[in-house]
Amino acid sequence: MSIVVSGRRLMESDPQVQEMIHLEENRQRDKLELIASENYASRAVLEAQGSVLTNKYAEGYPGKRYYGGCEFVDMVENLAIERAKELFGMEHANVQPHSGASANVAAYNALVPYGETIMAMNLTDGGHLTHGSPVNVTGRLWKFIPYGVSRIDERIDMDEVQRLALEHKPKMIVAGATAYSRIIDFPRFRRIADENNAYLLVDMAHISGLVAAGVHPSPAPFAHVVTSTTHKTLRGPRSGLILCQAALAKQIDKAIFPGLQGGPLEHVIAAKAVCFGEAMTEEFKEYQRQTVANAKALAASLLEQGFRLVSGGTDNHLMLVDLTNKGVTGKEAQLLLDSVNITTNKNTIPFETRSPFIASGLRLGTPALTSRGMKEEEMKQVGRLIARTIEGRNDPVVLESVRAEIVTLTKRFPLWF
Ligand SMILES: *Cc1c(COP(=O)(O)O)cnc(C)c1O
Repeated sequence: MSIVVSGRRLMESDPQVQEMIHLEENRQRDKLELIASENYASRAVLEAQGSVLTNKYAEGYPGKRYYGGCEFVDMVENLAIERAKELFGMEHANVQPHSGASANVAAYNALVPYGETIMAMNLTDGGHLTHGSPVNVTGRLWKFIPYGVSRIDERIDMDEVQRLALEHKPKMIVAGATAYSRIIDFPRFRRIADENNAYLLVDMAHISGLVAAGVHPSPAPFAHVVTSTTHKTLRGPRSGLILCQAALAKQIDKAIFPGLQGGPLEHVIAAKAVCFGEAMTEEFKEYQRQTVANAKALAASLLEQGFRLVSGGTDNHLMLVDLTNKGVTGKEAQLLLDSVNITTNKNTIPFETRSPFIASGLRLGTPALTSRGMKEEEMKQVGRLIARTIEGRNDPVVLESVRAEIVTLTKRFPLWF
């Protein structure tokens, strides 16, 4: 080995890691990916993310860095910022959060003193860990008041949100979820926030691709702050984003750096710029429309097979299946589907009676399958395959026939890698 940095390809310099990546490529290509928070990033996104920008330290913000040599990463970060603002129609963008979780922690930190009250959706009904779970730092630093869905229609109970806000006078209300299949009423959330002098933070981690394409109402006119991931429906690199009104820009920026993070990941920021550019195209809008149409088709197929869906269906890219009437737990169903090459995740359902490690539900999403070109016809087939797997769980012949059908199906929809 020379002391000079190597330009050898990974396959030559470290075949062990290369082989592991290769195995993961095969898994992503050969299995049906139904995890609602996953997607396939474009080759352009991956190229930007795998670039030499990873070598650059750039603590600070464009034009105000702590290091020399930042002229080109400044161009990259400014481009990402401008595209994010244009794409989502907000006055300020911070593209440095390393993840959706960092974005949330920084946004709370910017606007809510420790120990004060924040309202957010409870975890069993679809909220995220960073919405105040006791095992998350957010649950230790702030006092969270959870709201949930109504027993009647399993949609967010906006009257309860209003009542709880009046009672607890939160400094911030968080709207947004990780397992909720219906349109979120941002105008009503904002009215409730205004009545109580609270900030409205919209965490659009799951739906930001839909919002960018206009297939879910935008939070921009209503939220003081919007946080997001960039790797779910938005189909970019694994990362985060904060958007806000100009008046809050300084506080938000300070909360990310130096408040929470060190040097920004400029290679990932470049990949975010690419992703925002892709999201401005007509093709992307068409992709999101198809993602939602596919979710409706999959939901209809599952209902036809006798599955119960939480809230009866979906308006977005995901659905929650309540497996209670099928006699399997979420954990069992996830393992069973894994065994036939369908990748999903178990999920709690509203008013859950089991632990989150077992759970009664399954969360299914269509972003990844739509990215590989599948349409309504294939979604109906996927619904039937899921039903055959769960109902035929004790019959190896049935399970083998499902596996074989999935091999044919995935081959018809090849990925570029
Ligand atoms: C996924 C998600 C996050 C966290 O994103 P990470 O990048 O995994 O940290 C935060 N909020 C919601 C609503 C999410 O769905």
